[in-house]
This record gives sequence, C-alpha cells and structure tokens, in this order.
Amino acid sequence: MIDSFKHKGLRKQLVEIVREKGIENEDILDAIGKIPRHLFLDSSFLEFAYQDKPFPIGSGQTISQPYTVAFQTALLEIRQGDKVLEIGTGSGYQACVLEELGAKVFSIERQKKLYLKTKKFLAKLGYKAKIFYGDGYKGLPAFAPFDKILITAGAPKLPDTLVSQLKDDGMIVIPIGKRDIQIMTRFIKGSDGNMRKEGHGTFRFVPLLREMAND
Ligand code: SAH
Repeated sequence: MIDSFKHKGLRKQLVEIVREKGIENEDILDAIGKIPRHLFLDSSFLEFAYQDKPFPIGSGQTISQPYTVAFQTALLEIRQGDKVLEIGTGSGYQACVLEELGAKVFSIERQKKLYLKTKKFLAKLGYKAKIFYGDGYKGLPAFAPFDKILITAGAPKLPDTLVSQLKDDGMIVIPIGKRDIQIMTRFIKGSDGNMRKEGHGTFRFVPLLREMAND
C-alpha cells in the first residue's frame, strides 16, 4: 500500500477543488487531505482517484464524489465522540472521513462481497469503524441510539426505524427522491420527537435497496 509524494500532491489539489466548490470546514478538508483515496479504488484506476468524481468500486456500486462526501459530512456537524451510523459502507471512504473528525462510526453494507472487502481494508489502514453486513433499513438497534445517522444511498423516504434509533437533538442526512435524482435532506430531531426537515440541493446516488445481496 504505497502513498507517494505524487499521491499527496494530487490530494492537495483535490482539497483545493473541494474548497472552491464551497466546503469551508477545515477539519473535513484536512481529512480529505489525509486519507489515501487511491487505495480505495482498484490500482489500475489510480489516475481517477484524485479527481472530484464518483467511481465504480465493483458489485455495481460507487465510491461517492469527494465533494458529496464533504457536503454530507458538513451537514452532520460532527463533534468529537459523536456516535454515527452510516448506511451504505461501500468503499469505506466516507466512514474514514467521519472517523478522522472524531466520530465513533458504525456502518452497514448490504453487499456481502463489498462488506468483507471493506471491513478488511479499513482495519489494514488502521481505522476502527465497526462495519456490519446487514439491511440498513433496519439500522442497528443493538447499538442505538445514535447522535447522527448518514444514508449514502438514495431513498424514496426517510425510514421510520432509523428515526427511532436517533437521539433527541440528533440529525439524519439522507438523499430523498426518485432513482435518477434526490434532494439532500437533513432532519433534526426535536426533544418532542418531531423531525424538522431541510432541503440542501440535488444529488444523484445509487439506490438504497431492500433485499440483501449474498454475492
Ligand atoms: N459511502 C460509500 C458510498 C456508498 S454507495 C463510500 O464512501 O464509498 C451506496 C452503498 O449503499 C452501496 O455500497 C450499496 O451496496 C449500499 N446499500 C444499498 N442499499 C443498502 C441497504 N438497504 N443497506 C445497507 N447498504 C445498502
């Protein structure tokens, strides 16, 4: 696992691109500057790793665009020690960004092959995020409640189960919409249990699926 000066230089450029697109949180920019994104892609695609673009990672899935990762992370307003549930582990890149910000990360992936690969890979990189094979619609009742919940796949609506696993004053960030376009939505849970909803622009994610995948 090589992280050369060339990689570091490309990463600096990526940080500036993400900054220019409007991300101001220096901790998030530092995390992007630190995490070796090229190692999350197959090595033959090295030159794509530091472009601000999503990329296929196998099993029909994608690693999100760095700007999108930064945007979702910024909306979550992560504080040191926050317990965060991520639905859709994918490559694990987003989980690492959350961990760099001081979150305790729990992440669920429904594709078994991807789950196995990412769990092993993150441990090898030294990250402590806990990765689970399961259906994100069910959340992780055994570890609830969470301070923040992040869904990194597009869903038609906010799953009720996840709301019940969120602390009062907690936040959920989820892209809501149809298959081809979603609105980045932030929900903030009041102490009365009511969810306040905010829209934050349109994005395009792979769908949050209901069935488990064994391959
Ligand atoms: N956060 C990822 C990108 C996620 S792409 C990263 O940083 O790379 C969306 C992921 O959600 C895919 O890996 C997909 O398999 C997973 N997914 C889709 N439906 C799911 C569900 N119901 N439960 C858990 N994971 C799901």
